[in-house]
Amino acid sequence: MRPFFHPRTINGPFGDPGLYISFLFEKRAVLFDLGDIYSLPPKDILKISHAFVSHTHMDHFSGFDRLLRLFLGRNKDLYIYGPEGFLKNIEGKLAGYSWNLVENYEHNLTIHATQVEPERLVTKTYRCRNRFAPDPETVINHFDGTLHEEPALAISAIILDHGIPCLGFSMKERFHVNILKDNVASLGLEIGPWLREFKEALFNGLDPDSEFEIQTDINNTSGRKFILGELSEKIALITPGQKITYIVDVPFGKPNPDKIIEFANNSDHLYIEASFLDKDRELAEKKFHLTAMQAGYIAAKAKVKQYTIFHFSPRYIDSEEFLLREAREEYEKGRRQESRHTDWRTFGRSKELTE
Ligand SMILES: [Zn+2]
Ligand SMILES: [Zn+2]
Repeated sequence: MRPFFHPRTINGPFGDPGLYISFLFEKRAVLFDLGDIYSLPPKDILKISHAFVSHTHMDHFSGFDRLLRLFLGRNKDLYIYGPEGFLKNIEGKLAGYSWNLVENYEHNLTIHATQVEPERLVTKTYRCRNRFAPDPETVINHFDGTLHEEPALAISAIILDHGIPCLGFSMKERFHVNILKDNVASLGLEIGPWLREFKEALFNGLDPDSEFEIQTDINNTSGRKFILGELSEKIALITPGQKITYIVDVPFGKPNPDKIIEFANNSDHLYIEASFLDKDRELAEKKFHLTAMQAGYIAAKAKVKQYTIFHFSPRYIDSEEFLLREAREEYEKGRRQESRHTDWRTFGRSKELTE
């Protein structure tokens, strides 16, 4: 199976945190956090359609200027999300420059910024040609955990406590469509752009009895017709969708761990900060961060398939392996306990059945 989401951390574990997620076969990407992004090539930055900012401490937000610099003068819509106070922060950034010449720009950059509050999403729009003055209309939507939805995926957030509200993010593919290439060939078809339309038809929940036409030449003059459901049975294998979760800058105190464990449940990959070693737990608490042991504990409890720890304090620059080991030992311990628990439950059930 070729995954749809391709996540990669932007910097090393001691650099500013951030996750760049590109999409298979699409010139498009999503960004979690916006600190130092100079290590991302401009061509990759230009693919970003949605950026999600956990909180506006500098190491998570200073890259906004870089993004703006590259997007300026292009016909582009940028959707950006952040916690309470975010619109004020965005407006402060935009107010830091002079915009007297932008009316003449041929292309218009539009920024759609959304502030995530406990009950609502507050969105304002800023247009380059308007010198980034906000549009008069502010859009308010109810917040039920979801920030953004498309037929194929959804991106959700939780509000955590970092002394200030700090958002955790999760991106989930609704389901994964694996194309069985041999079966495509056996129908006399070739891999082509029609596969994208085929996947879209599945994600859009089109009637399985409806007709699906595949253009078989580049001029779109001749095609072959199939029943969508029958075609799907022949050429596609549907498996659970991918889930990527991103958590930074949270202390272990209640209610953060329980909220994160529930939110990150069954993620394919959890990216989680681990700024300190557990021997420095008091310092971690004081600075509102996790220790590696706590990150490993959360990863195990959330039953994630894979995790990455990052956002290490510079004090461990020569002892990175201790952080990695501490998280790994705690994760493995948690997973072992979990599987023993499962064995016992399974045993209990089979015993009931035989009695
Ligand atoms: Zn912070
Ligand atoms: Zn930070």
